[in-house]
Amino acid sequence: MTTQVAQNAQNAADAARKDRGDVERTEVVIVGSGFGALAAAKKLAKAKVPFVLISETTEHLFQPLLYQVATGVLSPGEIAPPIRAVLAKYPTADVRLGRVVDVDPDRREVVYEAGGERLRLGYTTLIAATGARQAYFGNDHFADVTFALKTIDDAERLRHQILRCFEEAHTTTDPQRRRDLLTFVVIGAGATGVELGGQIKELAQRYFATSLHDLKPEDVTVKIIEGADKALPPFGGKLSEYVADSLEKDGVDVVLGTFVTDIDAHGATLKDAKTGEERRVTAETIIWSAGVQANDFARVLAERTGCEADRAGRLLVNDDLTVGGRADIFAVGDMMSLHSLPGQSPVAMQGGRHAAAIASGKRDAGTPFQYRDKGSMAIINRFRAITRIGKIELTGFVAWVLWLAVHLMYMVGFRNRYVAVMSWVGSFLGRHRPHFHYAQQRMPATTADGGADAAAESVADGAETAQSPAPVAAPATITAGHAEESETWRREQAERRIPVHSSS
Ligand SMILES: Cc1cc2nc3c(=O)[nH]c(=O)nc-3n(C[C@H](O)[C@H](O)[C@H](O)COP(=O)(O)OP(=O)(O)OC[C@H]3O[C@@H](n4cnc5c(N)ncnc54)[C@H](O)[C@@H]3O)c2cc1C
Repeated sequence: MTTQVAQNAQNAADAARKDRGDVERTEVVIVGSGFGALAAAKKLAKAKVPFVLISETTEHLFQPLLYQVATGVLSPGEIAPPIRAVLAKYPTADVRLGRVVDVDPDRREVVYEAGGERLRLGYTTLIAATGARQAYFGNDHFADVTFALKTIDDAERLRHQILRCFEEAHTTTDPQRRRDLLTFVVIGAGATGVELGGQIKELAQRYFATSLHDLKPEDVTVKIIEGADKALPPFGGKLSEYVADSLEKDGVDVVLGTFVTDIDAHGATLKDAKTGEERRVTAETIIWSAGVQANDFARVLAERTGCEADRAGRLLVNDDLTVGGRADIFAVGDMMSLHSLPGQSPVAMQGGRHAAAIASGKRDAGTPFQYRDKGSMAIINRFRAITRIGKIELTGFVAWVLWLAVHLMYMVGFRNRYVAVMSWVGSFLGRHRPHFHYAQQRMPATTADGGADAAAESVADGAETAQSPAPVAAPATITAGHAEESETWRREQAERRIPVHSSS
């Protein structure tokens, strides 16, 4: 009852404000819906601080399990619950789907685009957690010919590609094409590269091998290309050696000390770091997981606050995670750089909580952020992972169980955890991939006059039209400096399907 009275009063105040043309204000604005943003939101919600969370995606994405969506173990819904639903039980939380494009630190206002409108929202504290995206080190055209693994759309696209390659390899009469269809090149032996490399090989050995009777595991080539001289370089030592050995034992080709100098639709050119010798690998699937750079909002914050950024665009924040000379703006997670902390979810979560604690008055302003390292882990394949907790290093089955347990614990929602356990049992103990069938699409008919491409195009167009909602109207450009960004947003919105996440 009290809540309803308060809500009515708030609605009346909002209406009066709109009549006067005043900018709407809230206590805290959080930008993003990833690990940093969610951790900040929960902390503020528990302290009953009013806040508005603005994110350009509807979901809270659990990125560490994206590779399992790409390889059919989990469905998108299990790792990407709607952020609105996650925060629904907190009365002081307001979630908005929109893209924050600008900030006016003196007026304490953010500018965001939502539903074709450009809106302003005032804050007392701003917490930015806009994360990072793939970096191509000046070769942005690589994005057109490679697969990535950063979003749900990326994972679904890759899953569809993997399925298509195995299906077409089964029917093609051209031996070279079959080899290329069954060759998967992963660029980068970081966590994503290692997980994907291990899983694709496992798919061949355990899932497709049971139903494609002409497929031998050795027909499938998986190459992981890494510029450094070790796999999973941040671990180093025996753990990196264990990763490379485990993958090699499973038939994955781990190519260390090698750079990629060019990529096209049919393969990649590799260069040996020591000898400079170049060679070409042909493949239908090249996956890029070689680096990240901060998302665009980091650049906007840098420009508006005078905060410096590193080469990857990450903000060089102050010790308390504030940005530039502003005590009221925080940047947390993958978009910032501080004391060489890794770009990992615990850093984002702890950073989000730290900023929220200061914003809610539970911690003194200016308190330095102290990261508590609870250990690092990475999964290689079924039954094998590595873990480092302080000086303790674990490998193999024990580390693998620990990896599953920790990731299960951090998944959002009891139902998602339950379904994930069922899927893991089916995939890791059995040979199932419960979510591969979502990738299937009807194959286009080939016309007698060789019009397969035209037919394929028209089928694809039809499918897209049937599934796509009307694109969000193009927003007005904010400032000349951000015209390019608005254009990117316009293009992304036109291409984007609002993700419908099945959790079945
Ligand atoms: C494939 C993969 C595997 C990984 N594996 C691990 C692992 O095993 N262990 C680990 O610890 N870490 C892992 N990570 C890293 C971890 O996921 C990140 O460190 C973590 O997600 C960072 O959290 P964040 O809140 O900074 O950003 P994110 O989680 O990336 O969230 C950014 C959010 O900001 C939103 N956003 C961006 N720009 C705007 C804007 N202008 N306006 C509004 N919203 C915006 C996005 O929609 C998104 O919701 C992995 C990452 C990937 C991609």
